[in-house]
Formats: sequence, C-alpha cells, structure tokens
Amino acid sequence: MWDLDPKVLEKWDKEYFWHPFTQMKVYQEEENLIFERGEGVYLWDIYGKKYIDAISSLWCNVHGHNHPKLNSAIMKQLCKVAHTTTLGSSNVPAILLAKKLVEIAPDGLTKIFYSEDGAEAVEIAIKMAYHYWRNKGIEGKNVFITLSEAYHGDTVGAVSVGGIELFHGTYRDLLFKTIKLPSPYLYCKDVHGNLSSECTADLLMKLEEILKSRDDIVAIVLESGIQAAAGMLPFPKGFLKGVRELTKKYGVLMIVDEVATGFGRTGTMFYCEQEGVTPDFMCLGKGITGGYLPLAATLTTDKVFEAFLGEFGEAKHFYHGHTYTGNNLACSVALANLEIFEEEKTLEKLQPKIKLLSQRLEEFWELKHVGDVRQLGFMAGIELVKDKGKKEPFPYGERTGFKVAYKCREKGVFLRPLGDVMVLMMPLVIEEEEINYVIDTLKWAITELEKEV
Ligand SMILES: *Cc1c(COP(=O)(O)O)cnc(C)c1O
Repeated sequence: MWDLDPKVLEKWDKEYFWHPFTQMKVYQEEENLIFERGEGVYLWDIYGKKYIDAISSLWCNVHGHNHPKLNSAIMKQLCKVAHTTTLGSSNVPAILLAKKLVEIAPDGLTKIFYSEDGAEAVEIAIKMAYHYWRNKGIEGKNVFITLSEAYHGDTVGAVSVGGIELFHGTYRDLLFKTIKLPSPYLYCKDVHGNLSSECTADLLMKLEEILKSRDDIVAIVLESGIQAAAGMLPFPKGFLKGVRELTKKYGVLMIVDEVATGFGRTGTMFYCEQEGVTPDFMCLGKGITGGYLPLAATLTTDKVFEAFLGEFGEAKHFYHGHTYTGNNLACSVALANLEIFEEEKTLEKLQPKIKLLSQRLEEFWELKHVGDVRQLGFMAGIELVKDKGKKEPFPYGERTGFKVAYKCREKGVFLRPLGDVMVLMMPLVIEEEEINYVIDTLKWAITELEKEV
C-alpha cells in the first residue's frame, strides 16, 4: 500500500511532520527511525532492521505488537461499528470495559469516566474534584497540592499540577497555582539512594501542616509509587498510604495518577494495591489498550459520583466530554488486553523477570558514568553522570542520554532516555533472554562513553 522509497519517506518526514518533545533542528540533521511493522517485542524500520522495543513504544505496549487476540478484537468490532458517541448514549464495549475496570480496580472505585490520553484523564480528575466541592455547596476550595518533579501530561491543566521546570516552567503565567511538596525521592534519598522512613514521616508532616492550616485545598495530585517522567524517582514505601491517611483525616480528595504505573508495570495490576490505597480518583492511560489505541480513564467513587446527581434543571452534571469519549474500537481492544492478562498469566510470569532485572541492574553501579540506578517493579532508570564522585551531570546540550540510546540502536535495541536517565520499560511479555540482551547492550553503550569523555 505504502511501498515508497525509504529515502522519500525520510525526506517527507522531515519536511512535513513536527514531532512531539523533539528539537526539530536536530531531528532534521540526523538519521531517524521510521518504523514500519512490529511483532511481539520487536519492531522493524523501513530498511528492514529489527529492534527490541525496550520502552514499550513510550510505556504503553504490554503483550507485544501485532498480538493476534488484540488484532482480532479490533477487527471484530470494526466490522460492527468503529465509533458511536457516548454523550447521552452508550456502546457495548465501553459498558463491558467499565464493569471490568471496576472489578480489577482497588475496592471503592466504582465509576469510570473515559477519555483518550493520560493528560485528559488527569485533567478530568482535576475538574471533577474541583466541581465536587461546588456541587456539595462548599465554596472557596480552589487550591491543589502537587509534588515537585511531577508529570501528569501536557495539557494546560495537567501542566499546572506538574513540576518539571524544563517542561513546565515556560508556561508558568498560564497555569493555576498549586502548593508544592518536594519530590519524595529527591527529598529523602541518602548518598546510597536509600529512602529512610524518618524522612518519609518528615515529608508527611509537612503535608499535614498544610492540610491543618488551610481550608481551601481541593485535592492532592500525585503519581503512584514512582515519578516516572522525572527520571524514574521512586517514592519511599508507605508514602502513598501516608498521604491517603492524611487526606482522609482532613477531608481532602486524593488524585492518583497511574497512567505510567497501571497495567502491571510495577508488578501488580496497579501500584495502589501494594499500599492498600483506594484514592478518590485514579487516572489510567498508556497500557490500558495494551499499547494499541488511545484510551484513558478516570476512576472515582460513589461519593464523588453522587455529588453530581440532581434534577436536570439543577445543572449539577459534569459538563465535560470529548468527541471520541469511550470509543468502540479502543474499548474493545482494552477488554481483550485485560483478558490476555488472565489467559497468559502475565503478572505471574512477570515476577521472575522483575527479579532478573534487579539482579542485572546491580551491575550498572560499577560503571564509571553511572551515578544512580532506580527501579520499581519492571520500571527502571539508570542515571548517567560525568563525574561519579561529585555526581556532576553531563552538560544538557551534550545529549549524552541520546548518544547512548543511538549506540543501542546500532545493536537493535530501541530506547528513548529522559535527559541523561536511561529508561527501561520493556513490554511485560519480553523473555529473559531478551532482557539480558537489552541489559548487555545498554551496559556496552554506556561503557563506550568512557572512550569519548
Ligand atoms: C505519560 C503520562 C501522562 C500523560 O499521558 P498522555 O497519554 O501522554 O497524555 C500522565 N501521567 C503520567 C504519570 C504519565 O507517565
């Protein structure tokens, strides 16, 4: 169908296509990867070169590419209907998926509001939380508590609750104000990267001081267990639970963003399970369709849902929706994604892979240019530094992380770093042998740096 000369495609790509999170001047000067097909954990570019997709196509692929069951779920639905609106009407896969998500979510999350991307799922939680207090007749609640180094997506509301200066600083004047707590990892780590429980308690005390002294707090918004986009910064164990206890004590809502961590990445379906937490809102995206189609969901409780109930004329309903909310194809493939988790025992088979990953990650500490190694479940970040002793970073303009990623491409491993943090977010179906290949390649690529600097 698109049997074009690769050179022509490369030219058109540079001529017409503005890529996300990409310095296009550099992109136009470089050779870039253009993928054409995939199978399992592998991708092929337009020249036929094969790569392991070691970042799950930006953290969303779960059971591999071109999975027969996921393909067939879409094709079956496609032969019925591709899209019908859910504004005041419904469709079969969206209903079935809502029921299924409630069954697997932490107890108490009983209502599903769909959208298309993670940022929207967060945006919706923010608006719902704010609106909730108004519907309850409680005025003056208009402040959110957030964490520094947070990432919740790129729409203006999601950026307002974000805390990565490089991404978000530019837009400061456009954003609503929030109260920021420090990033738990950066605040609490000692020289060995260990997170002490005293420090966690100290951070929770800071939160309590804020909650105690103000009555204008709508909600606290935070990622679940790890600040992924900040460069894989894990929370100390118990932090999420501590936040839940305090929000309950002071009657403030809690919005947990599981967009990156959901669907098995941390070793359980959702990280919240590991701390026995049911937030007031849980945001899902990325892996929800197994990495096939854009879909996201904001889960909430009966308590929140009921605050929006009323006679039509009371106008209490949630005036928010998107054209493709609850899209039939996306919901069909999301259902099949969850069936595969059960049929293929994905989470059970993941446990030894997580162990293997931790064992192999240890080896990175020995490398001259590795300053920190972090992991939560099957998510990992390896931080590159210029001077290990002084923890001195490489200059930003040197793009060291990208250089290492490009080296890995030579050996058929596809990575995209976060600054100088090498991210490993492999599809959950990856085999041990392939994990070893990815690790060996990355170690080699980092070692190659020693020749340059
Ligand atoms: C990726 C991500 C988002 C944004 O999701 P998009 O689908 O890219 O809009 C939000 N929160 C977290 C934690 C993420 O990792």
